[in-house]
Amino acid sequence: MTISAKTLKLLFVSTPVGPLGSGLGGGVELTLYNVAQEMIRRGHHLQIVAPTNSTWNDLPLVQIPGNLQIIAQSQERKDPITMPENSLLANMWDYARQVQANYDLIVNFAYDWLPFYLTPFFHRPIAHLVSMGSLSNALDEIIKKLAQQFPNTIGFHTQTQAATFALEQQSAILSNGIDLSLYDFCSEPKQQLAWVGRIAPEKGLEDAVAASQATNILLKIMGKIQDDLYWQKICQNYPNAPLEYLGFLSTNQMQQVLRQCRALLMTPRWVEAFGNVIIESLGCGVPVISYRRGGPAEIIQDGKTGFLVEPDRVPDLINAIARLDEIDRQACRQQAETEYSLQALGDRFENWFYKILHS
Ligand code: UDP
Repeated sequence: MTISAKTLKLLFVSTPVGPLGSGLGGGVELTLYNVAQEMIRRGHHLQIVAPTNSTWNDLPLVQIPGNLQIIAQSQERKDPITMPENSLLANMWDYARQVQANYDLIVNFAYDWLPFYLTPFFHRPIAHLVSMGSLSNALDEIIKKLAQQFPNTIGFHTQTQAATFALEQQSAILSNGIDLSLYDFCSEPKQQLAWVGRIAPEKGLEDAVAASQATNILLKIMGKIQDDLYWQKICQNYPNAPLEYLGFLSTNQMQQVLRQCRALLMTPRWVEAFGNVIIESLGCGVPVISYRRGGPAEIIQDGKTGFLVEPDRVPDLINAIARLDEIDRQACRQQAETEYSLQALGDRFENWFYKILHS
């Protein structure tokens, strides 16, 4: 049997910043879920190593205890790597080390230094899915070293994201994908806008709130409050904005609200690696208005499936909102079906896995 037709034994090691299902992991939770279910559907054997209290009971999980890892976004670029006592990250990788002989390939979903550092000490190959742009000098350094030592093993979501690491070697660009059967098309939205994501400074929610206040269009906000002080400040600064905060919702609850919105606003301050919420929105036929920065600039077709505007310019968001009638919502759903289905996602990841095993 050639390796590209082989049934794989895969060990996925999750992010150590929060249990799966909590929302603390951001987009990487949905990515892991979707890649995992598509690999199982294709007949591969799969086990997921995840933090205790993970709530996905429909996938094979080994739950590991330990203290959560601090999130990379809250650290300065030159900060040293920090590890808590009884580290969950270390415990998950200790487990992976012990069971590695049972698998063909280990896949790392953590944006953390330790798994990169440990890679040469393992007997089995490790694929690393990098889920954010460059944020830490120490992490950049170890990723660079590994890209030289183990070509092909580093995967990114978009070219723009990969470029922030300035690697000399070519990397896998994997984009992303969703189960489109879970997102319903809506042709007749209400007069309301959506903002979906972790509520944390790098996501720039305040600009969407400012646009909502200026246009007096209701903004439905969905997502985990990761930085409570930041959220309080937004509420104080925009007392008259027509907002509704709905909490962190399940995919199904979220798409029921999202699909009835005229557009999704995306206002990232950082180089967004991808932006899962964009393809979820397109899946519902909802156009996306975003700053022309990072992943969104590679996904949104300006003037066709949304608008890309000058970064950090609220007036430009407002202008784009006024032009929403120009967008055909069917074209949005169509783009999601063509580029971001589970099938397309599975093909990209499967090819990446086989390529690593070939080399
Ligand atoms: N999300 C969710 N429920 C909510 C709000 C967000 O499940 O109420 C999920 C959403 O489906 C997406 C993730 O949170 O998968 C946010 O990921 P994204 O890639 O947009 O940003 P990240 O958090 O990774 O920076």
